[in-house]
Amino acid sequence: MTQSLPPLNTLWHAQSSQKTLEDLKTDRAVGLSSQEVDARSRHYGRNEIEEGAGRSSWQILLDQFNNIMLILLIAVAIISGVLDFIDLQTQGTTQSGIPFKDTIAIMSIVILNGILGYLQESRAEKALAALKQMASPQVRVLRDGQFSEVEAAELVPGDIMLLEAGVQVSADGRLIEASNLQVRESALTGEAAAVNKQADAQLNEETPLGDRANMVFSGTEVLQGRGKVAVTATGMATELGKIAQMLQSVKSEPTPLQQRMAQLGNVLVTGSLTLVALTIGIGLLQAGWGRLRELVEVSLSMAVAVVPEGLPAVITVTLALGTQRMVRRNALIRKLPAVETLGSVNTICSDKTGTLTQNKMVVQEVDTVEATYRVTGEGYAPQGEFKNDNRAIEPQNNTPLQELLLASVLCNDAVLQQEDNSWTILGDPTEGALLALAGKAGFQAETLNPQYPRMGEFPFSSERKRMSAICELSDPTSCISTETQYALFAKGSPELVLERCTAYQGDNNEQSLTDEQRQHILNANNHMAERGLRVLGFAYKPLREVPEATEDESTEREMIWLGLVGMLDAPRPEAKVAVQHSREAGIRPVMITGDHQLTAMAIARSLGIAKEGDPVLTGSELEKLSQTDLEREVERVNVYARVTPEHKLRIVRALQKQGKFVAMTGDGVNDAPALKQADIGIAMGITGTDVSKEASDMVLLDDNFATIVAATEEGRVVYTNIRRFIKYILGSNIGEVITIAAAPLIGLNAVPLTPLQILWMNLVTDGLPALALAVEPPEPDVMRRPPFSPRENIFARGLGSYIVRIGIIFAIITITLMVWAYNQAQLSGDPNRWKTMVFTSLCIAQMGHAIAVRSNFRLTIEMNPFSNPYLLVAVAVTTALQLMLVYVPFLRDFFGTQILSAQELLICLAFSSLMFVWVELEKLFIRWFHSRS
Ligand code: ATP
Repeated sequence: MTQSLPPLNTLWHAQSSQKTLEDLKTDRAVGLSSQEVDARSRHYGRNEIEEGAGRSSWQILLDQFNNIMLILLIAVAIISGVLDFIDLQTQGTTQSGIPFKDTIAIMSIVILNGILGYLQESRAEKALAALKQMASPQVRVLRDGQFSEVEAAELVPGDIMLLEAGVQVSADGRLIEASNLQVRESALTGEAAAVNKQADAQLNEETPLGDRANMVFSGTEVLQGRGKVAVTATGMATELGKIAQMLQSVKSEPTPLQQRMAQLGNVLVTGSLTLVALTIGIGLLQAGWGRLRELVEVSLSMAVAVVPEGLPAVITVTLALGTQRMVRRNALIRKLPAVETLGSVNTICSDKTGTLTQNKMVVQEVDTVEATYRVTGEGYAPQGEFKNDNRAIEPQNNTPLQELLLASVLCNDAVLQQEDNSWTILGDPTEGALLALAGKAGFQAETLNPQYPRMGEFPFSSERKRMSAICELSDPTSCISTETQYALFAKGSPELVLERCTAYQGDNNEQSLTDEQRQHILNANNHMAERGLRVLGFAYKPLREVPEATEDESTEREMIWLGLVGMLDAPRPEAKVAVQHSREAGIRPVMITGDHQLTAMAIARSLGIAKEGDPVLTGSELEKLSQTDLEREVERVNVYARVTPEHKLRIVRALQKQGKFVAMTGDGVNDAPALKQADIGIAMGITGTDVSKEASDMVLLDDNFATIVAATEEGRVVYTNIRRFIKYILGSNIGEVITIAAAPLIGLNAVPLTPLQILWMNLVTDGLPALALAVEPPEPDVMRRPPFSPRENIFARGLGSYIVRIGIIFAIITITLMVWAYNQAQLSGDPNRWKTMVFTSLCIAQMGHAIAVRSNFRLTIEMNPFSNPYLLVAVAVTTALQLMLVYVPFLRDFFGTQILSAQELLICLAFSSLMFVWVELEKLFIRWFHSRS
């Protein structure tokens, strides 16, 4: 039965939490019913901020024309129009017969280019936005009396939402419970400092937003503690919705490559203007004003030829395709520059738990001071036995064991669930494994939590490496034999918990801890850790009163030691292969973990990250090192243990100082600075906090180390392909410019190519094959060579000289053909056919170039022609289009071409194929040269 919908225009901070729950018609222990959620969802809509303040469509369209190369083309169109206008005025007709043809054609291409660029960019933005959506936060809610995780967009007013450290708050709400809750509200208030939150405060109506301590707001981040919230506003009704412009929306930042291309545009435009000035200047000096008209036409053609009109679009498409291929391999790119820089990564710093291991914990061993127990059973199923010396025992008859199991249930935030015969957990797998362990002895959270209500807690953090819960001992049948009303149950890193203990729980009574016993416990810990087990220490302490949330240090001392629990978290089998691949690819894997050094080392050895006897650096050792010493150490250390997020930041900085290009993983709220500092910050898609995802460049959808290596491979492929089509496109541009400039110099009294024909070549005959080259499959050695420096110039490693060399060869071939054809044409009395031959052979030569440029070293006959079918299609389509320009009458008129005889066409083909032959010969030469050195 659904109730009537609550009004939401209340000043929630000014009333008690109880009244809030009543007004919202919800219940703190049960939450809303599913029907109620449906009804509210229909009424209030989805919890989404409508359309972020990204670039508007107009902005994207206008940005397309904010490009110096397009401005140059517009100038060419105008000058060409003026020339036609003068012709019309003086001769009553224009040279081409169709007035303003070039102007209209160039302007159409400028506009078309703008529209294409716009479509591609807005598609890329949408794709990025969709990718972001995939990483949208999940929220833990209480509905129908059950905890579950739902998508943030499904929240409705009245939902009871749970908050914990690292979560991004997804709706506005009134706190009904809060424990040590600290929230960063900078997204809303601009104030970076953490704000303390309290559920029981009742505030003045006028209290400003930043001081509403009993409320949380959408878009803010939980830094510490936990809370329970009744949702009061969702979607556009939230404070964030009201100021949606402030929302940090999807921004497509220009990648380093796009920036370099913009610079290249400037160089090309300046260069071409200089060339134009020179040609006109020299021409005028040679022949006087009489040739001005012809010189201006040559200049216009040169200006169009120098601009690689198709290049920006091809680059955008390549990057967008790269992100799509990566997401298919479970790497979600959040910031576009990461696509092209990933290939340069030479150090991957990875967490252990979940990334290198499976994060499916099973307790294998329990050690109280007086006995060791093996635990049987699989997965999270609470079924199994406790064995001592191979004999099954009853845990209920053993005081320290019983107390340890009680602690593992009470000091626990996970939920164990049974779904169709399989047991799953909600929350931290370490805690899930403890619930399963306790279940094997009949200790269940559902019965124990109400018996021992939690009155307070000191939450877990990667810095504290421990957690304590303070519970009330109202039950006289309690297995805790103390006269106090409360007890603290602690669990965490064994060394840290043991340090804070003065006694231990024996079979019959408490005993004080001697140095020998401490050593015995540490030895037992090491013994488990050496086998790769993740070990937690347990303790408890009777309390007379509930301590304040800030009194952790003074309360978590003089505790009574209960024992150790060792759980297996097996390495991921695919991680071992990925480690090997990354080494072959010149990428060094480094493990940085909060876990014990022996556990870390055992896992690192089994994965091949470290060898027997390799050094491990622990957080406390690292603390004693100066940054300069650390810079030296990072060269040899591959395993860091017991580190805190702050240490991670120092490690990245030290590695970067050593010239490394670092990818680093992180999941916690405090990992954000290290993720931002790393060259590629990687967050975990499954276990990662919202805050870490927000700070990252890439999110691993499967939390898997192997995915990082796969993404670096894709990054390398993208970069290689970009270089490949730049080679292809720019070589042709240079060839065109030289050919055009050469015509008047060698005395041919005409411009060989019109601006329209050049545009056709640059956009269509160069553009289509370039797009196909962008999806060229990886070369076999892509992951068998070291990464290239991210700081290298795009023209490095011979690319620049290749472009100039190929441009010159291109020009030599075409000029030779041009001279021959020109002379033939003069003889045959048809003075313009040679131009069509030059035009055709330039286009066809590029087809041969496209096929040959696929590999730097492999000859075309050594490659499978069908491994890039797109290229075959592109070459076939482009050749057909080019022939249509020559043989379809109306296209011929428009493009100013002449029909070619079969013999002339064959001559064009013969000259064009020289280009292909040249590139293949170059490969043979390079191979020969390499074999000698
Ligand atoms: P990684 O950094 O590789 O993910 P990790 O999970 O061991 O490894 P942290 O989450 O920082 O790193 O945990 C550090 C230590 O804190 C663990 O080794 C364990 O001893 C302790 N610990 C982990 N989870 C809990 C928990 N839920 N409650 C109490 N202590 C914990």
